Amino acid sequence: MKLHELTIHEALRLLNKKEISAAELTNAVLDRISQVEPLVDAYITVTADTARKAAEAADQAIRRGEAGALAGIPLGIKDLICTRGIPTTCASRMLEDFRPPYDATVMEKLNAAGAVMVGKLNMDEFAMGSSTENSGFKPTRNPWDPSRVPGGSSGGSAASVAADMCLGALGSDTGGSIRQPASHCGVVGIKPTYGRVSRYGLVAFASSLDQIGPMTKDVTDAAILLNAISGYDPRDSTSVDQPVPDYTKALTRDIRGIKIGIAKEYQETAGICESVCRAVEQAMAVFRSAGAEFVDISLPHTDYAVAAYYLIAPAEASSNLARYDGVKYGFRATSEPGRNRNLFDMYKSTRSSGFGAEVKRRILLGTYALSAGYYDAYYKKASQVRTLIKHDFKTAFDTCDIILAPVAPTPAFAFGENTDDPLQMYLSDIFTLSANLAGIPGLSVPCGFSDEGLPIGLQLMGSYFEEASLLNAAYCFEQQTDYSNQKANPAKH
Ligand code: GLN
Repeated sequence: MKLHELTIHEALRLLNKKEISAAELTNAVLDRISQVEPLVDAYITVTADTARKAAEAADQAIRRGEAGALAGIPLGIKDLICTRGIPTTCASRMLEDFRPPYDATVMEKLNAAGAVMVGKLNMDEFAMGSSTENSGFKPTRNPWDPSRVPGGSSGGSAASVAADMCLGALGSDTGGSIRQPASHCGVVGIKPTYGRVSRYGLVAFASSLDQIGPMTKDVTDAAILLNAISGYDPRDSTSVDQPVPDYTKALTRDIRGIKIGIAKEYQETAGICESVCRAVEQAMAVFRSAGAEFVDISLPHTDYAVAAYYLIAPAEASSNLARYDGVKYGFRATSEPGRNRNLFDMYKSTRSSGFGAEVKRRILLGTYALSAGYYDAYYKKASQVRTLIKHDFKTAFDTCDIILAPVAPTPAFAFGENTDDPLQMYLSDIFTLSANLAGIPGLSVPCGFSDEGLPIGLQLMGSYFEEASLLNAAYCFEQQTDYSNQKANPAKH
């Protein structure tokens, strides 16, 4: 097997047995990036030099017998996670030249574990989108079919894992941005419980919804990466002080007797394509044969999730993005004769030209939803709906352990298919938004292919801090199927 095709757990075994070196592995991944990146465009920045240095340090640590849990593992990082001295752009012109003076907590943890960052990954600008078409720099192509989007907003993360341009990646998920691109690119992605992973150093989109999580080639790798990044952080007031179990220990494959909930509202959702229905039904049969029981549940406020999310997320974004004013850091529009006559003009031209169309749409929507006279009708109402959605899940988890659902109504769509109709793009988030509104964990695991050969993901959601149960159920599924082992071949097209 080629080195860049290794999973994290396979690579760790070979590294620790000294059958391969971290330097070899990193070079193999960097070579792979040079070959495939022109076809996929997953990276905004490739950090070859620092990666080679980190790999050397990892080799020394391994030789000294002091290797961390991820020593020598090449990873890609979504470009909204702060990396000290290395550009962190959020795929926005606004932050094109921003080099953070500090590392995010997740980066401190990965660095301490000996991981090797190979680069920063493309995304929708400020994580707003479901296709990576909103990147301020370039679209990323789906490694399974370059005429299709990789999903979003963590499209670069999903595509780079699928195309073996890193062994695993970090993404972020505010309304589905880990799970949906994982589904579209045939990789595993988990959005942890809100509070499980520190958001310190994650550039904020919608702070009450954002969560960082792993995107990997298989479930075991997701457990390994989640182990590395989870835990309480006093620098993030929303992080929860609860012990982190060893997620790899949870992977027993035994799911006998677990109760899996099927929500009637998800089954009744219009517009789910046939290949997705078929793949989900086949997945149910796999779980049944492994000893799971199915129960009917109801999530009665599902219909309101899209509306509630698209008020709350833009409202928080409008407030979070107010900091990009051209003064403290980031892009500032240069003054032209007759423009930028005063501070207000400077703000206006900086924000008009620094942000892309979707980001501006969200800022306008959010500002409107929070404005005097409309706050009660929009933001407050949406927050009340959010509470009802939380209650729906609470009631559902009284009768089931896990909820099974599609990730997205369709496989990866073609470029341009949804760009003229933002509402259509928003509606495709129907199955993922609720987990963020409620704060519960959700995972996507490959569960089949469409007739055109595009990957389809299955979503599993659990109650708060039930990541271990989700991972084990996904592991059980993965061990009985072969979907995670299928490889995209971006060079084929
Ligand atoms: N697609 C959703 C949005 O555009 C979710 C994005 C995300 O999770 N970052 O807001």
